[in-house]
Amino acid sequence: MRYSHLFAKTSKNAPADAETINARLLQQAGFVDQLMAGVYSYLPLGLRVLRNIEQIVREEMNTLGAEEVLMPTLHPKANWEKTGGWDSIDVLFKIESRTGNDYALGQSEEEIVTPLVLSRAQSYKQFPLAVYQIHWKYRDELRAKSGIMRGREFFMKDMYSFHTSQEDFDRFYKEAKQAYLKIFKRLGLVAKVTEASGGAFTTKVSYEFMVLTDAGEDDILYCDECDYCVNVEIAKTKEGDTCPCGKGPLKSARASEVGNVFDLGKKYGENFDLAYTDEAGERQYPIMGCYGIGVSRVMGVIVEKYNDEKGILWPKSVAPMTVHLVSLNSKDASKQTTIDDEAKKLYEELQKKGIEVFFDDRDGVSPGAKFADADLIGIPLRIVISEKSLDKGGAEWKERSSAEASIVSLDEVMGSVEKFIQS
Ligand code: ATP
Ligand code: MG
Repeated sequence: MRYSHLFAKTSKNAPADAETINARLLQQAGFVDQLMAGVYSYLPLGLRVLRNIEQIVREEMNTLGAEEVLMPTLHPKANWEKTGGWDSIDVLFKIESRTGNDYALGQSEEEIVTPLVLSRAQSYKQFPLAVYQIHWKYRDELRAKSGIMRGREFFMKDMYSFHTSQEDFDRFYKEAKQAYLKIFKRLGLVAKVTEASGGAFTTKVSYEFMVLTDAGEDDILYCDECDYCVNVEIAKTKEGDTCPCGKGPLKSARASEVGNVFDLGKKYGENFDLAYTDEAGERQYPIMGCYGIGVSRVMGVIVEKYNDEKGILWPKSVAPMTVHLVSLNSKDASKQTTIDDEAKKLYEELQKKGIEVFFDDRDGVSPGAKFADADLIGIPLRIVISEKSLDKGGAEWKERSSAEASIVSLDEVMGSVEKFIQS
C-alpha cells in the first residue's frame, strides 16, 4: 500500500469532540471516520486491524469446534415477541416498514439462532454443537462517548452452544473460557475474569472478561495475590477489604468488558418451544450458552493500552502492516534516483515475500512530517531510505516501541525483517 495513493490520510488536528484516547488517535491516524455518535466507518488501515482481530477470534473459535455462520441483522418482530425482548430490551432498535411491518435490528442473536439451529438439530445425536458469527450489532445506547469502545453499531463475535446435559455444558463453558483467555493474550491484552450474575438473561453465573483501562465503563475489584475479580455493581465486598483468599487487599479499578460468557439454561428452547428427542424418545429443551466478544471494542481497548504522546503502538499480532517503509527527498537528483530505486526495490521484495508493507513514497513531504505520521499510525517497524542512511551504508531501522535507530545494510534488511516477524 502506497501512502501517496491512500485516500484516508492522517490529520494534523485531533477531532474536537474526542473524549478518549482511542477516539482521538484512531480518527487522527485515519483508521476510522465518525459518521455520528457511536457509528463509524472503518478506513483502509483501520479495517486491516479489525480483520486481524477478527481472524484471531475466528481461529480460536474454530479450534474450539464451533462452526461459523452469518445471520441477518434485520429481524422479524415475531421472534423478539417470543422471548419477551421486544418489550423488555431498552437498547433494541425497532423499525417499521412502509407496509406496516415491524422489525428489530439484531442487538444479540438468540432470537434468530435458536430456531435456526433447533429446526435442524432434532436428535440428541446432533449435540453438542456451537455456531458463531462475526458481524454488526445495533444498540440504542444512551451514551456513545468512548470512541469505538461503545458503538450504536459495532462489531461482535457471538457464539451460541447447545447441549443435552449440564455436565456437557460445564465442560464446554470451561473450554470457551480458556479459548477467550488465549484470544486476549494473542491480542496483547491481559483480561481479568469476573464472576457475575447473568442479569436479564438468567440467574445463573456468567463470566466477564475485563481489561483495566480508564476509558472503560465498569468498576471492578481484584486481588493481586489470586484470580479474584468481581464487578463492583454486584459485589458484596469493597475496596480495601481482605480478599477471600486471605492475602491481598482488594483493589478497585476502571475496566472495559471485552467479552463475556453466559449460561442461558433452557430459556430459548422453551420460548420457541423447540426441542430435540433424547435417547428415550422424549422431547427435551437443550441447555444453551452464549459467548460474546466485542471485536470493535477490543480495537479501541488496544489503542487505550498501547499508545504514547506521539500515537499508537500496535502489537504485531493486530498491526495494520508489519513494515512502514519511508523514502525521503534529496536535493541531489542522482541521489534521489538511488533512494527511489532502493526503496521501490525493497517495497517489491517485501511484498514478494508476503510481508505487509506501508510505503510512504510521498514526494515533497518533510522527514519530520513523515516520521510524525509513522509514529501516529503505529506500525511496529519503520525502515527509512534516505541520503543519510545510504551514506551510512544502508537503511535506517527503528522499531515503534524503541527510541533507538540503527543502520542495517541493504543486503541484510530482508533477513532482519523476517527475524523481526518471528521474534
Ligand atoms: P456493556 O456492559 O459494556 O454494555 P454488555 O453486557 O451489554 O456490555 P453483551 O451484550 O454481552 O455486552 O455483548 C458482548 C460484548 O460486546 C461485550 O462484552 C462487549 O465487549 C461488546 N459490546 C457490548 N455493547 C457494546 C457497544 N455498545 N459497543 C461496542 N461493543 C459492545
Ligand atoms: Mg450493554
